[in-house]
Amino acid sequence: MRMRKATRFFSMGWHCAEAMGPKNDCTKTCDRCGQEAVAFIRYSGAHLCRNHFFEFVEKRVRKDLKRQMAAWKGKKRLRVGVALSGGKDSSATLGILQRLLSKRMGTDIVAILVDEGIEGYRPRTREAALDLCQQLGVPLVIGSFEKEFGLTMDDIATVAREQTPCTYCGVLRRYILNMIARELGCDVLATGLNLDDTAQSILMNIARGDVERLARLGPHARVQKGLVPRVQPLRSIPEKESFLYAYLKGIRFSHAECPYADAAVRNKYRKIIFELEDDSPGTRHALLQSYEALRECLAERFEPANLRPCKACGEPTVKEVCETCTLVADVRTRSAPGRKT
Ligand code: SF4
Ligand code: ZN
Repeated sequence: MRMRKATRFFSMGWHCAEAMGPKNDCTKTCDRCGQEAVAFIRYSGAHLCRNHFFEFVEKRVRKDLKRQMAAWKGKKRLRVGVALSGGKDSSATLGILQRLLSKRMGTDIVAILVDEGIEGYRPRTREAALDLCQQLGVPLVIGSFEKEFGLTMDDIATVAREQTPCTYCGVLRRYILNMIARELGCDVLATGLNLDDTAQSILMNIARGDVERLARLGPHARVQKGLVPRVQPLRSIPEKESFLYAYLKGIRFSHAECPYADAAVRNKYRKIIFELEDDSPGTRHALLQSYEALRECLAERFEPANLRPCKACGEPTVKEVCETCTLVADVRTRSAPGRKT
């Protein structure tokens, strides 16, 4: 039923204006086969039909993944963890990885979801993630802030003042994802980061002068004890293409928006990147290519951090006490009865 509706949507040309942006023109035929086009790729000028659009996306993901996972080439048994939120990008990542890797002998995929405890958002995305894993036959392991820290993100947001909720959420979620992926014996952890996210992170770290953080952006080619290396299959795929891919493939995902998303610092950079791309299509790719060209120099300049076990929880960290334990302790102090925040 859902796909029938979607097909009708797309045959009406809705995808051109809504999914691919107002400057897309899809009343054309596919440049490769002459079938009805479903997508106009502004930065390359190509019109693509459904099948050639899938091929266009999958080819780039396969190529990038091969490069990102060169260190694991030939490994007989490979376990890939996928950080699944239930949103479009992580759902597309799971769908595409399942398609590309399921034929590789000895490879298995497991999805990992972290329930942050965000009312009105997480229950819906969690349900979508459960549905998708059932649809694809992929096991799903769920961790939660409440179980791990005795706090929900909603609790944290009521006391967090100096930092945005996303600052806490990002640190705590990465901590749980890494812990679960490691316990499951995952060789790598795939995240749903798309090209827009990547371009924003590059620009944000440059604008802040945080070159060390820039150097440590994934994907990770080196294995460090206690940390599961992250790979980013969609890092060269723009957000709208990731959306269209998931939609046309019938990959189940939720449109729910986190109520704290408006406060995220990266929104500023999202707007800048959007305007730059709108003015000069291909800017996001150019930012990624520039970063790639600098990566080796950055890796030489910033050696892998010296990790040691956190004094409080034992997880790997560069400090005496890890960032997660510090943030959680801060929230607990602020939430203590009688204390004004
Ligand atoms: Fe967490 Fe921020 Fe994402 Fe909401 S928008 S889930 S608070 S990181
Ligand atoms: Zn700790």
